[in-house]
Amino acid sequence: MKILTIHADYINYESTKKAIKSAEDAEKGKQEVKDCLVVFTAVEKPDEADIEAISEKLKEEIENVAKQVNAKTIVLYPYAHLSSNLSNPETAVAVLKTTEKLLKDYKVYRAPFGWYKSFEIKNKGHPLSELSREFTIDTKKEKTEKHVFALEKKKLSDEDKVNYTTALIAAKAILAKHKGNIGLIGIKGETAFVDIDVKLNNADIPALEADIQALLKKEIAIKKGAAKDAEHFQKEILEDIKHAQVYSYEDLVVVPLHESPFAPTKNIKFCKIVELGGAYWRNNAGNKQLTRVYVVGFENDEAIKAFEQKKQEAALRDHRVIGKQMDLFSMQDEAPGMPFFHHNGTIIYNALIEYTTEELRKLNYEINKTPIILNKKLWLQSGHWDHYKDNMYFTKIDNQDFAVKPMNCPGNMLVFKSNVHSYKDLPIKAAEYGLVHRHELSGVLSGLFRVRAFTQDDAHVFCMQEQLEEQIIELIELIDRAYQKFGFAYSVELSTKPEKAMGDPKQWSIAEDTLEKALKKKKLAYKINPGDGAFYGPKIDFHIKDAIGRSWQCGTIQLDFFMPERFDLSYEGKDSKKHRPVMLHRTIYGSVERFMGVLIEHFAGKFPLWLSPVQVKIVTVTDRNIPFARQMLQEFLKQNIRVVLDDRTETIGKKVRDAQMEKVNYIVTIGDKEDASKALAIRTRTGEVQFNVSLSAFLEQLHQEIASRKI
Ligand code: ZN
Repeated sequence: MKILTIHADYINYESTKKAIKSAEDAEKGKQEVKDCLVVFTAVEKPDEADIEAISEKLKEEIENVAKQVNAKTIVLYPYAHLSSNLSNPETAVAVLKTTEKLLKDYKVYRAPFGWYKSFEIKNKGHPLSELSREFTIDTKKEKTEKHVFALEKKKLSDEDKVNYTTALIAAKAILAKHKGNIGLIGIKGETAFVDIDVKLNNADIPALEADIQALLKKEIAIKKGAAKDAEHFQKEILEDIKHAQVYSYEDLVVVPLHESPFAPTKNIKFCKIVELGGAYWRNNAGNKQLTRVYVVGFENDEAIKAFEQKKQEAALRDHRVIGKQMDLFSMQDEAPGMPFFHHNGTIIYNALIEYTTEELRKLNYEINKTPIILNKKLWLQSGHWDHYKDNMYFTKIDNQDFAVKPMNCPGNMLVFKSNVHSYKDLPIKAAEYGLVHRHELSGVLSGLFRVRAFTQDDAHVFCMQEQLEEQIIELIELIDRAYQKFGFAYSVELSTKPEKAMGDPKQWSIAEDTLEKALKKKKLAYKINPGDGAFYGPKIDFHIKDAIGRSWQCGTIQLDFFMPERFDLSYEGKDSKKHRPVMLHRTIYGSVERFMGVLIEHFAGKFPLWLSPVQVKIVTVTDRNIPFARQMLQEFLKQNIRVVLDDRTETIGKKVRDAQMEKVNYIVTIGDKEDASKALAIRTRTGEVQFNVSLSAFLEQLHQEIASRKI
């Protein structure tokens, strides 16, 4: 079946003459439909096999487009000229009638079948106003044919390859029981996933694992081969990547974006399905929603044991759980994916920002604050409108289109441009802690790790070519200092020019050399990811390792050849002529919210004093001690110490245990002895107790510990 959709201001059509004997009855005169999605259709021979199935598909395709262009009215318009392989008229009429019924949520008009018609149409002319689609049904014969799917682009470790391979075997096991298609296989953290258009729920997992286990016991051969015709989801990918290298595993065919993505299958002994989730085909909410199956493969017993143990450890540190226990943040249905920071969480957030801000001041940074809603014109200029639209939020103000910023860069380009700059002013280092919004799929939202609103600790460094190396070194040192502050080990990756890139290749190689030279000067070990840079420039990524060995990509230093061009940035050189500055983007935390999530799990909630929401908790032994305890509370507050008082009528044992559960840094117990001596008994989080400490000595110790930001 072939269709052509046109989003139109109106269509006029008039039936002029019967084209076939069995033409439908037609209304006389001109018919007009306003503001509609016109669907020109040609039902083809292969569609005769299953009218229901092809109608269902037609309905899906139409709904897809209608949703994207926000059309409520549909005109089904038979249009034989789209195909030279037309079905018989009975099938075509039946398909159109069935589809009309299926499109329950729309107002549907149907132009009569079997007539010559004249028509006039006014196309709305936006990028999606004209789309053509071709699709077929899965006939029995096709069902035994090969499914083709692609692997997401990413560097693969040996473990990744084991997981990928396991995901392929999982796909095979699922498709043995259910009819469906496969979308993408990819890697997320330490698992692989496979997207599949089969509905599954947690109750299906044990049987599925058993099926995979049974396949693992058999001999599995994954062979290299040549690409055959693919269909449905897969066709899009084949067209996109024009890739001839494929692998096949029985009736499954994989179109990988890497060389040899598979591990030797005989080594894979066990499989776990970690989780089920949802994802849209190609990450586009206009597309069909698929089930995402997260899978891990294991080569031996030890590996599976280590996995279970790590999972338990991670569960104990889960930032969503600790976040609730410590009253740090919450998520609400009223703003999915957008964290609500409570008082305690805001303290940590502010402490993180204060820390980097101090570092930036020492390096002579400017700090900007730009609006979060900006005119469409800016997003067209920055290229986001063309390349990032699907992830943005929009609004209208005074009848003009605005977008909520997904990145801080364009706003900061305007700040740079609002002044004239001389070479003497460079480098200009402009930071912004900007709140950005990105539309992520609801299926992938997860605590603070994957959110729709977050603060990017962004900065842009504008400099001259000859300043680039020292600027990169300064940034590497800044990021290094910050990660040491939290006790994170980290690894570094350098990503170079991708196939499709903008800018002069010579400029690219100078930029790559400069980044590499800076890394060498700092004696940092790094891995090169050839071709993995952004289209606008090469980059260095920093991956931190948390307390239980998990890796998180946070910091980045990226060169950008694109934005200075797009925004026509310039400075006046020594020669009094205009020159284009070199620009770097960089982040330390990446997303402050996500970094907080990582920190919560890294410290398991036991924050160092400078980050801790409650630094001191005063607990009373008896109610007699409350007046002195209150007096102490005031003293700590006056000294800017985050303190709370527990004066409940509970046993001291219970109160101390509660304070330990709340992970406060110091517990000050006040009993009759302390009351009499006016000295304090102080218990650390690790259980060490000191008696007879004077208030002033303790305060000094606290201030020192906070100021040094030690962990
Ligand atoms: Zn930027």
